[in-house]
Amino acid sequence: MLRLTDIKLPLDHNEQALEQAVLARLKLDKANLTAVTVFKRGYDARNNKDIQLIYTLDIEVTNEAELLQQFSQDPRVRITPDMQYKFVAQAPANLAHRPVVVGLGPCGLFAALILAQMGYKPIVLERGKAVRERTKDTFGFWRKQPLNPESNVQFGEGGAGTFSDGKLYSQVKDRKHYGRKVLHEFVAAGAPEEIMYVSKPHIGTFKLVNMVEKMRAQIIALGGEIRFSTRVEKLDIQNDKIHGLYLSDDQYLATRHVVLAVGHSARDTFKALYEQGVYIEAKPFSIGFRIEHEQSMIDQCRFGDNAGNPLLGAADYKLVHHCKNGRTVYSFCMCPGGTVVAAASEPGRVVTNGMSQYSRHERNANSAIVVGITPEQDFPGHPLAGIELQRRLEELAYTAGGENYHAPAQLIGDFLAGQASTGLGDVAPSYTPGVTLTDLSKVVPEYVSQSIREAIPAFDKQIKGFAKRDGLLTGVETRTSSPVCIKRGADYQSVNIQGLYPAGEGAGYAGGIWSAGIDGIRVAEAVALAMLEH
Ligand code: FAD
Repeated sequence: MLRLTDIKLPLDHNEQALEQAVLARLKLDKANLTAVTVFKRGYDARNNKDIQLIYTLDIEVTNEAELLQQFSQDPRVRITPDMQYKFVAQAPANLAHRPVVVGLGPCGLFAALILAQMGYKPIVLERGKAVRERTKDTFGFWRKQPLNPESNVQFGEGGAGTFSDGKLYSQVKDRKHYGRKVLHEFVAAGAPEEIMYVSKPHIGTFKLVNMVEKMRAQIIALGGEIRFSTRVEKLDIQNDKIHGLYLSDDQYLATRHVVLAVGHSARDTFKALYEQGVYIEAKPFSIGFRIEHEQSMIDQCRFGDNAGNPLLGAADYKLVHHCKNGRTVYSFCMCPGGTVVAAASEPGRVVTNGMSQYSRHERNANSAIVVGITPEQDFPGHPLAGIELQRRLEELAYTAGGENYHAPAQLIGDFLAGQASTGLGDVAPSYTPGVTLTDLSKVVPEYVSQSIREAIPAFDKQIKGFAKRDGLLTGVETRTSSPVCIKRGADYQSVNIQGLYPAGEGAGYAGGIWSAGIDGIRVAEAVALAMLEH
């Protein structure tokens, strides 16, 4: 099979156009072309009057060797690489200990699934509840019920990405094509087939909930075990090696191999690990606000008259601005046609994030507008200092919101003018339980307000209307990525505790659902191979 890249066709091309484009590119006789499959489809909307679809195609031909020879200098014609996932090990019949996966977010889910598929029968420990019960708690909190610190947007089956837009792309290097395995498993669990070929796939919240349940069922069917409402409180470390885990229900679990995939919000767990001497470093992350505009404005700006075309869907954006003060402001986790969500996991603190359904049909577009911060410059002195900074800002947001989990909010125009908002404009806030209009500069350090004030007008030059007065800012956005890195070596084990495999976003090795899933696969392989040696 041959792979052709960079085939460009107009947005409204007909069905035959793909085949014709292949024949034209390769100067090929129709009789030689036996099959054409779309491997990837993206678009180029830089000129919104002439939006192009860009394809990567896999083709079958009768004269492959001849074509390869003929196009040997053309990097856009190559043999299709073998992207099939291959297991690295098979569990031996008598394992002294079962591997344990801590956390059932995307990283833990894939670590457990791969271990289960290789016959290792993992035990999964998840502090939160099963996804259906968790959904009730989370949606309940959004409807003014009390926050459950163990069952919310951050904690519970499916992890932080369950109530999300379900975007499945990232910039991680994936030379072994683990990302395809993640997508295959998602499709097998009920994700739309198109995630295999569209360039920026997304799944949406409700589909994710069903998929997570199906994947759990597969792990159990393969001999794995899942324990919900079970928090790991402490490691049993002897001679710098893992011997077991102390659990929240006063139980002890002996094991020699632990995948630690606890996500970026497991602050109590980070503290416990640090106090036990697990090597942890502070790492950079970002802080700022959620911004909301009408989705129709973003669609119009990006797609012009093509706005609403189903092949394009709701438009997204990605913006970066380098400020005069040396800071960088960027958009993050953009959710087209979605809602801003209450993402707190600790009482007395307010955090925002964003989600959408597969349809992306809600009225507003939202994204985080955040400023990059570093331990050296902004939270020096202690490996866990980033967590304390997050907590301080989340508390300020709670107070500014009225101490009832309403989020503090401000019109963009008022924020730019440095005055508190007193009334809403055209953009209706989507955040529940509700917003309190105020002056958002009270809840973030001065350099954050200053940087975002400079960036928004700069973004308006790329997306007309971005700085419009009625757009809305809601705060505070602090959980952009982990504030710590639990350092691991080339063997994926903690640099100072043998048998401990820090993984996923919380450990600093992933940023997003897809990359967390990929990291889960990598670490599962490392565990499986290590267990063969013992
Ligand atoms: P997590 O998903 O955080 O999972 C960690 C799990 O560990 C949790 O279930 C937690 O309960 C459990 N846990 C923690 N401590 C313990 C303990 N001590 N014992 C037992 N269990 C424990 N990413 C995208 O790529 N696309 C998106 O569209 C997107 N949208 C998002 C929207 C929202 C609202 C949020 C909050 C995040 C979003 N993200 C998105 C980010 C994405 O969810 C994370 O990058 C991803 O979930 C990280 O996966 P993980 O498995 O490493 O950690």
